[in-house]
Amino acid sequence: MMDYSKLSLIEIRDLISSQKVKSEEIIRFFIEKCEKKREFNAIIEIFYDSIEKAKEIDKKIASGEKVGILAGVPIAIKDNILYKGHRCSCASKFLESFVAPYSSTVVKKLLKEDAIILGRTNMDEFAMGGSCENSCYGVCHNAVKFDCVAGGSSGGSAVAVAAGLVPCAIGTDTGGSIRQPASFNGVVGIKPTYGRVSRFGIVAFASSLDQASPIAKTIEDCELVLKVIAGRDEHDGTTIDGCNEKTTKTRFTLGVCKQVKADLASTKYSDKFLQTLQALSKDFDIVEIDIPHIENSLSCYYILAPAEVASNLARFDGVKYTKRADKSIDLEGVYVQSRTEGFGKEVKRRIMLGNFVLSSGYFDAYYNKAKKVQRLIKQEFKKAFESCDCIILPTTLGEAFKIGEKLDDPLSMYKEDLFTVPANIAGIPAISLPYAKGEKGLPLGIQFMADALKEDVLFEVSKRFEKLHKEER
Ligand code: GLN
Repeated sequence: MMDYSKLSLIEIRDLISSQKVKSEEIIRFFIEKCEKKREFNAIIEIFYDSIEKAKEIDKKIASGEKVGILAGVPIAIKDNILYKGHRCSCASKFLESFVAPYSSTVVKKLLKEDAIILGRTNMDEFAMGGSCENSCYGVCHNAVKFDCVAGGSSGGSAVAVAAGLVPCAIGTDTGGSIRQPASFNGVVGIKPTYGRVSRFGIVAFASSLDQASPIAKTIEDCELVLKVIAGRDEHDGTTIDGCNEKTTKTRFTLGVCKQVKADLASTKYSDKFLQTLQALSKDFDIVEIDIPHIENSLSCYYILAPAEVASNLARFDGVKYTKRADKSIDLEGVYVQSRTEGFGKEVKRRIMLGNFVLSSGYFDAYYNKAKKVQRLIKQEFKKAFESCDCIILPTTLGEAFKIGEKLDDPLSMYKEDLFTVPANIAGIPAISLPYAKGEKGLPLGIQFMADALKEDVLFEVSKRFEKLHKEER
């Protein structure tokens, strides 16, 4: 049998639609891969009904029936995305046995194009974390170096793609959860403009910042899958139209943020970044831009996101949804005991932080202030995009770290999000592309951000970067 794990999603799709290979063969191949590589702990459940689904697609293709643009292709979903009749636990003990009563819009759109959902991927509990160590299923391992973290929270999705267990996996990104693990495992991950993809049926922890999107091996795969899942949805009032057509622009200006450059100066990767800029100056115009409050994005995020956690997770009370502590004696005991047993350490930390910043007396000083700073940051980005098409910056401060290294140091874990969080705070699209190896030989990602609704520009700039970068190497 051919090794399909090296192929992109589009290549697999073309093999199936041209009837060179049956979808059933592809699905069985990837299932076997997932079974053999369980040690990564990237796929926490294989959906074996995918084989039957593949047979149905094969039948449709053989009879000449019209099929969708993802016909027969396997895609994995993060464990916080509902797929009717399948378990969805957000990697939390609270929801361990929860079965989705309906499908999320994202899944419905994938199924409408005849994609096959192969399984669910590991993640940090309720998507809080940057390493995929906060999971009730145990830690997910880096695809390149086993004793290093996968990154998070969509670590399982990134590792599944990088280790060839599936050609594409959907993740969610609230503060960097798609881009950071994509960077740590050497794959491509995009976070679209806020509202581009419906959040209906996705268990969000910070609804005002969160977006679902693909992680894949190539930019083109991400572009195709994003196009499928994007668009207005009557179930999510924040949604906007689907993606724009390809940009007609031919020359692009890249902005280098003064403040990011300064941050980077103290790291080992500063020289590499400057070299990259130098190489890019052949094909792009490069300008310096100023986003004075970009660094406040992180503190802003760690006030706003926990505030939303406190409110969004309040419904997990032990009365509805799976988990209920057996030994509770009264109603309050049900609430307290179920939450004590059901939630992990990081989730509890965020709930406490969130309740604090929302409490009377502190609301103005923290939550409202953070909202004001968010507005300021948005305006600064808007202004920056008057002089450039995309902002270029690293995805992370460095390579994947060792498993366990940051577990007792939440602040240093939060700092991981320094370069990714600004895009969520500003609501703009951003992509991480593999571009170099760090001193430990592990992948490093480069990030591009574009103005809101300009995914077309983001993809075009990414493709040019990739082309140039390949020639460089
Ligand atoms: N690491 C960030 C956090 O823990 C990002 C999480 C996310 O994007 N879901 O909040």
